[in-house]
This record gives sequence, C-alpha cells and structure tokens, in this order.
Amino acid sequence: MSFEDLGLSPETLRAVTDAGYSTPTPIQSKAIPYVLMGRDIVGVAQTGTGKTAGFTLPLIDILADGQAKARMPRALILEPTRELADQVKSSFEKYGKYHRLSTALLIGGMSFGDQDKLLDRGVDVLIATPGRLLDHFERGKVMLSGVKILVIDEADRMMDMGFIPDVERIVKLMPPLRQSLFFSATMSPEMRRLADAFLTNPKEVSV
Ligand code: AMP
Repeated sequence: MSFEDLGLSPETLRAVTDAGYSTPTPIQSKAIPYVLMGRDIVGVAQTGTGKTAGFTLPLIDILADGQAKARMPRALILEPTRELADQVKSSFEKYGKYHRLSTALLIGGMSFGDQDKLLDRGVDVLIATPGRLLDHFERGKVMLSGVKILVIDEADRMMDMGFIPDVERIVKLMPPLRQSLFFSATMSPEMRRLADAFLTNPKEVSV
C-alpha cells in the first residue's frame, strides 16, 4: 500500500513526501481511508506507530475542503499532556504546509493572553488538554458548537491521569452529529465503555 492509494489530496501527499515518508505505517493504511469516508474510528495503537499522522493527514484534507468564512473551531484534538499536544500542533504544521488551516494550542503553563488572541482571531483546529480547554470555555472564550470532528487521543492515559470526567463534560458541549476518533494503546473494558459512549458505529483498527 502506498500513500497515493489512501485518498489524500495532492497537497497533503506533497507534504508527506517533504517529510521523507515513503510508505504508510499499518495504522495509517488502515485508518486514513475510513477517516476520509467520515467514519468514527477506534484506533488501538501506541505512540510511535505513526498514529498522529494517521489522524492529522486525513483531518487536514477534510477541513481544507470545507473551509468556512467565519473561523469557528471545526476540529478538536484532546491530548493528555502538553508535550503530546505540542507534537500534534507540529504535525498539523508539517503536514498542512500547503493548506491554510489555523491551529491553536490550549494547554496549561502558557498565559491565557496569547491563547485568547488566537481564539479571538478565529481558528480551524483546537489542540487542547481537557482542563485548559474547560477553563477557556468557562471564561466564554471558546465555542464548541461548530466542532465537526473530535479526536480523543491516548484515552487510556487520559484515564490514568483522571481526565475522563473533564472529557465527558467537553463531549457534552459538542454537537452530537460529528465524526469522532478515539485512540488508545489498550482496549480495556473501561476504554470500551468510553468508546461506546463517544462514538457512533465505529470502525475498529488495531496494529
Ligand atoms: P507517532 O506515532 O505519530 O508519534 O509517530 C512516530 C514517528 O514516526 C514520528 O516521528 C513521525 O514523524 C514518524 N512517522 C510517521 N509516519 C511515518 C511514515 N509513514 N514513515 C516514516 N516515519 C513516519
């Protein structure tokens, strides 16, 4: 399987070539076509398997296609740690270099002021840790009613860190008609219950 077979746009394929990747990893080959089809996904994959590109590449194409005039966040990526959130932001920049999508990183340990400025300007993609996102929401700075795609990444780590109640609150703030992608390194009964609660008829991909 090559990247050309997955249904990605020429611009995104060019960014993949620039990144120096010659073949998709297994999670990329399995997940990308379903994400592009609009399916919900349960992805059982660890860090290091290429799962970040597995969701970032198709999201870039979906979002670039429907670029809105008024920039309201149309995708939300939830990450358990600042470091992971930062890596996802870099991935959007690297793989989205031939598109014009704006991203905002909403993580703790940074001033609200800079994040507010980004939010006021309008962004396409929010990349956030759950607590900081809720802080912004409570301050009236972020609208989630336009979110069409939700990614819950590293769900098992979110659980270990006690973030699931926050994630559940966040999901309730979003439209029920959306595409949701759920990634976890393991699929325990608790993860299964969460996936069932957040997803609709998901396609399961594991590597
Ligand atoms: P991830 O699991 O998404 O954190 O990715 C792990 C590492 O693999 C990152 O440094 C990526 O840049 C790299 N990577 C992702 N996809 C590919 C690919 N198809 N070929 C080679 N390297 C890749």
